[in-house]
Amino acid sequence: MLLGLAPSLLAALALAAPSLRLAGYAPPRSFVPADTLRPRSSESASSHGAEAVDAAIPGYLSPWGLPPVPGRIVLTDSGLVFHASEGRASTRASSVSLAYVDAEDGRQHYLFRLDAGVFETEAPGPLLEAIAEPGWSSDAGPAVPNRAPVPSDSASWLRAARRIAGSRYADTLYLLLGKPRAAVGLIGARGRAAGRLGEYVSVRDSLALDPARMTGEGQLRHALAHELGHRWQARARPQLATLWTGVRAIPDSKRYGYGSVSEHQAEAIAFAISFLQTTAATAESSAGALALLDHYNLLVPGTRTMVRYFVLQAPYRNHPLHSRLTSGRITYALEK
Ligand SMILES: [Zn+2]
Repeated sequence: MLLGLAPSLLAALALAAPSLRLAGYAPPRSFVPADTLRPRSSESASSHGAEAVDAAIPGYLSPWGLPPVPGRIVLTDSGLVFHASEGRASTRASSVSLAYVDAEDGRQHYLFRLDAGVFETEAPGPLLEAIAEPGWSSDAGPAVPNRAPVPSDSASWLRAARRIAGSRYADTLYLLLGKPRAAVGLIGARGRAAGRLGEYVSVRDSLALDPARMTGEGQLRHALAHELGHRWQARARPQLATLWTGVRAIPDSKRYGYGSVSEHQAEAIAFAISFLQTTAATAESSAGALALLDHYNLLVPGTRTMVRYFVLQAPYRNHPLHSRLTSGRITYALEK
């Protein structure tokens, strides 16, 4: 099962009771009315050095527990804006706090918690300065998350679930993880009450989703891969156990899958498939594509292991990174 804690509960808490928001930092209310996305003014920057002007921090944003996308954060008068490197819409955040520093693969990775995501960077300078500034430490109104539109009726959500289950993307997943006997359905009242976004019931070999409470297509695709991961898990336990040897635990206590090997594996499977799909059109020699895998693996260890297994399977035989992922000398692209 995939608990929807991160997105829906946090969103509900943020909207219903601002005092229950995650502890963090936010620009003061006086900054908010000027709802601009311009970089912080040189006037405010002058008090603490020119480096804050147009400060752009390169890194990777993992929104709503989904795989990270490369981009940069720009500090603005009304908070932070993350701009993805490739043509995606920008993401705003009004609060930020340093969650932890991960020294994996010999480098210092700074992990910041934003409104509804985690931002990872190796060059946190301006972001650390902003957090340290007194002006940034007061409370601002809760951020309004990007939610899927309010459901019109359950029939339309069932159509959404059946559409993704009948897509070419799903066909790839079925080849890798098997196809449930029953048609995909919607999560029942009990599953909803438990906060689940997806559910795989082994005895019935059936899979259910709750598109109504998802943030969009990315979460729908992720949930389908995660739940089919559970299907495969139930049928290939010894194989998965062998693959899983030496995989470290998820370091972030707030990431889904933390403290549960079963959920961790399902997340690594979903992350691995996301990586292979994302890089399917990449140039064969792209070092950047391999570097991206390091950032997936940093958030959900075991992703690299699953990628190297899946790329050997039929759907990915012609993947542009096939030879580099199976060469046996894959190393951390970011190492030294
Ligand atoms: Zn699960």
